[in-house]
Amino acid sequence: MYSVLRSTTLHHFRFLRVTGARMARGFMPIRGHELRDPIPPALLTFKDPRAFQAKSFWELIRALGVFRLCSYPVLVNNCDKLMSLTRAALGKRVFAAVLRPFVYAQFVAGETESEIAASMEKMNSLGLRPMLAVPIEEDLGESSGEKRYDDNLAAMLECVCMSHSNAWCKDPMMQLKITALINPELCVKLTSLLKKHHYDLDFVVKAMDGEFITFPGLSETENTHVLLGLNRLNRIGEASVNKVRVLVDAEYTYMNPALSLVTMAMMKKFNRDSAWIWNTYQCYLKESRDLIFDAIRLSVDQSFCLGVKLVRGAYMDKERKLAIKEGRDDPIHQSWEHTNDSYNRSLEVMLNLISQQPDRYKIIVATHNEESVRKAVTWMTELGIAREGGSVCFGQLLGMCDHVSLTLAQQGFPVYKSVPYGSVDDTLPYLVRRAQENRTVLQGIRKERDLLRQELRRRLREKITGAK
Ligand SMILES: Cc1cc2nc3c(=O)[nH]c(=O)nc-3n(C[C@H](O)[C@H](O)[C@H](O)COP(=O)(O)OP(=O)(O)OC[C@H]3O[C@@H](n4cnc5c(N)ncnc54)[C@H](O)[C@@H]3O)c2cc1C
Repeated sequence: MYSVLRSTTLHHFRFLRVTGARMARGFMPIRGHELRDPIPPALLTFKDPRAFQAKSFWELIRALGVFRLCSYPVLVNNCDKLMSLTRAALGKRVFAAVLRPFVYAQFVAGETESEIAASMEKMNSLGLRPMLAVPIEEDLGESSGEKRYDDNLAAMLECVCMSHSNAWCKDPMMQLKITALINPELCVKLTSLLKKHHYDLDFVVKAMDGEFITFPGLSETENTHVLLGLNRLNRIGEASVNKVRVLVDAEYTYMNPALSLVTMAMMKKFNRDSAWIWNTYQCYLKESRDLIFDAIRLSVDQSFCLGVKLVRGAYMDKERKLAIKEGRDDPIHQSWEHTNDSYNRSLEVMLNLISQQPDRYKIIVATHNEESVRKAVTWMTELGIAREGGSVCFGQLLGMCDHVSLTLAQQGFPVYKSVPYGSVDDTLPYLVRRAQENRTVLQGIRKERDLLRQELRRRLREKITGAK
């Protein structure tokens, strides 16, 4: 655990005193509240093909075809190689033309502003909200000079502008990857320095404000780059505050502590009255519960509002391989069931907090897992959390688990779809990584395929017999 979060103390944690020691140790059981406007249980089985009523015939066919392809592990596991080979064989233009109406249209909003606007309006008509994501992928060894990060900043600022200026939805949100703005190698170095040095949030906020700060342990060049990176993040904070909620992605454990440090500093600066900057918590990590509790404590200590994106986590295989290679303990929970338990328990903590202070705490339940969604909906009802209050919302990736997203949206819950946009070339690496990260979800998407087929059959029947 890194020093800045460790430094917080329980005695300032007023909320924990209110809810009692049980909260600090574990969880307040949710009961004793009157059920408010419960959702019909049948809907929460997500078995109703009418969720797809608003989709066009072609969209149903396309989704069925894409999910069929994604059900073959060999295709998903090797999609990067397959795409490169096909691109080399067909040439860039033909390859783009083949991909565009199919995989690209399923998972990407479009390239030009008018294409993106058309996708967003369609989404709006389905009751879904877009959460724009600039598809920038950086990992170790992939980063280049300062100009690249400045270009990324320009793309992110454009994303803030697009999310805000178009009336696509209430409470617009976007995703932000810090490694698109600060060199990932330096995030790794900062992470290891955090084990030895304590940087408090004010120190980082000062650097964001443009003060010349020296981070102990960094060379002069590295220090300059970190300051420039913090300045870029500051510009995004300034552009988005009071307009667009910025959800910072969590990445690998070897850099997350540095990412969290700067995210918390952004929260301290920009989240005084509401949560404009949110952090992501990966529940597949054994330490995720501690990290959430630390964040809650820090937000109380330092008087800022906390926004949480709760996910299971995308980098399991690589994390495990690295841990084996370095002879470390596996940072990931030992099984999917343990990860589920961790997810649901963190969800419960956050919902308890929100039921008491909905203006200070916010959560996006970012999952395709029906059981977690059901739990969130049930607990919200039990705790009397308003569906449209804006403190709890749901998130899924564009093109995935629409049966869950659409059912929730039809019941009045705010549902965001994470929406990448850009050219085929720009979005390809993003798509490949998302496909590989979500291959368990993609391969288990049988239920969505069944529902799509049922809806197709219903429409065909209707056409043939004229009966509704
Ligand atoms: C809007 C949105 C934003 C996201 N942002 C991020 C982000 O910033 N960072 C990030 O890391 N992820 C992020 N994710 C999550 C990620 O991309 C996957 O979507 C997610 O992990 C899949 O989990 P699930 O809850 O949807 O599905 P489920 O099928 O319920 O769970 C699958 C997940 O469970 C975990 N798991 C699977 N097998 C095991 C096992 N044997 N042991 C332990 N755990 C296991 C893995 O995390 C796996 O991805 C985001 C997801 C969404 C929808």
